[in-house]
Amino acid sequence: MIVALFDIDGTLLNTGGAGQAAMEAALAEAFGIRVRPHGIPTAGRTDRAITEDLFGHFGIPDCPGNRRLFVDTYVRHLQRTLAECRGAVLPGVRDLLETLSGDGRIVIGLLTGNYSRGAWAKLRHFRLDAYFAFGAFGDEHRHRDDVAREARRELARRLDPDRSVRTVWVIGDTPADVTCGRAIGARTMAVATGVFPADVIRAAGPDVLLDDLSDHARVVRTLLDGHPSHAPRDGCC
Ligand SMILES: [Mg+2]
Repeated sequence: MIVALFDIDGTLLNTGGAGQAAMEAALAEAFGIRVRPHGIPTAGRTDRAITEDLFGHFGIPDCPGNRRLFVDTYVRHLQRTLAECRGAVLPGVRDLLETLSGDGRIVIGLLTGNYSRGAWAKLRHFRLDAYFAFGAFGDEHRHRDDVAREARRELARRLDPDRSVRTVWVIGDTPADVTCGRAIGARTMAVATGVFPADVIRAAGPDVLLDDLSDHARVVRTLLDGHPSHAPRDGCC
């Protein structure tokens, strides 16, 4: 059996800035902070890490009550910003997920830095949620490598022990996706559909780098072969 673990933002979909807008609205509503945060990177990071940095930046006490208030407010605003922002499912993704969901050799899941409620809100908005039954999320972990380790544990809990996992793939759009895949011994498929240029992602050393996920035949062949359909680190970008 093959397992493919997908990142969300920049890999499956682009929210058009809905996530960032919802975080800014949550800061304003929950803590009265109306200054836009600058210098806090988001791509490839976990929501927990971003929240800790925002709290540190604005001097908000990092306690369970404040974290819960921030996440609740963020998720509520996210429903609105997803509807307002001009996001989109990325090229080839819906058809690829449809193909993979009908292939009994491949199990798909999520490996994302999103808060779990935020992740499911984004997937529901774009009607991609039905393709996924499980995942690992960024609620508790500051480092993406730890989210990847949680994904492995979740896999072990959920999968039939009689079905051995031949290969785990991590599919994402940032160097951090590549790094976390390597941290759990997975193969890594990078896509240049997020904010990072292809040469930056390539430097992280993914097993395969693609422009996007629109060539279903190539993606499925690569997943099943367990190795890139072309030479390693020699994608089409
Ligand atoms: Mg991403």
